[in-house]
Amino acid sequence: MSGEHKKEFTSGSNSGITRRQAIVLMSLTGFAALLNYVPTAWADDKKHALYGNWHVRCPLSHIDLVTGGTRQHRCETCGRQCFVDGKVTVMCPKGHANIVVLGNVDLLTSYKCQTKDCGLECQGW
Ligand SMILES: [Zn+2]
Ligand SMILES: [Zn+2]
Repeated sequence: MSGEHKKEFTSGSNSGITRRQAIVLMSLTGFAALLNYVPTAWADDKKHALYGNWHVRCPLSHIDLVTGGTRQHRCETCGRQCFVDGKVTVMCPKGHANIVVLGNVDLLTSYKCQTKDCGLECQGW
């Protein structure tokens, strides 16, 4: 007779690096090339830019698709600047407008729609 006692004990360990930090690190290299023709308008070391495919909305509610690294965009319909006072309005795939504050952002690669019960990713559609 042998009594086997198995203790099931799982120890979870979480890595300290957040996914967001990893994404930002990866994007930095590719973005450096874009900065060559973008005038430096900010004194700090952050880029305050969208990175990826974003649908941005101008002050008159026209919507343009921007790609790559973007921190200034003139509306293709009316010519108005879409980035105003460090803020830009991005659209989610369902058409909800989200005002994104870029003041403390380096490269924004992901933004979840803030509309209740939506939460879709605004980047990449
Ligand atoms: Zn416009
Ligand atoms: Zn939405």
